[in-house]
Amino acid sequence: MSLSHAQLGIPPDYGQRCGLTLCPEPEELVDTELDFYQRPQKLVAAALRSWTLMRATATGDGISLFLISAYRSVEYQHKLIAAKLEKGELIEQVLRVNAAPGFSEHHLGRALDLGTLGCDALVVEFENTDAFQWLMENSATYDFYLSYPRNHASGIAYEPWHWCFQQG
Ligand SMILES: [Zn+2]
Repeated sequence: MSLSHAQLGIPPDYGQRCGLTLCPEPEELVDTELDFYQRPQKLVAAALRSWTLMRATATGDGISLFLISAYRSVEYQHKLIAAKLEKGELIEQVLRVNAAPGFSEHHLGRALDLGTLGCDALVVEFENTDAFQWLMENSATYDFYLSYPRNHASGIAYEPWHWCFQQG
């Protein structure tokens, strides 16, 4: 099966228009702990090491942090978007919350969607939690950065739960 942007109605100048760069899948991924829903997840080894350290420090500070999602393939992203279109969403709406296949940081095996106890998954209210405050103060120590702050130039909606490992 070929997976093209045209099939999804994504304009050819999408990357340019959003200022997003292609996110290639890594050659090697390692297994993480199970996520909050007891599903297996994968990351590149360096990102997993840093996430494991960061989570342990947070736990020591009395902050709960857990994985909701990590690596996702280009194929998975394509299917996710295709399923939303099938349910009647418009591609313009979908691209506000999901990067086009090939452009999601989750393809890199370096991005984490994080959750904390007492807060629903993947909601803007995550920004009001102690976990978010802790991340804002400590994540850079572990080379994790908030990828989509408010009013990000890409047009992707604010995602306080989405953190990407960027070394150096
Ligand atoms: Zn994410």
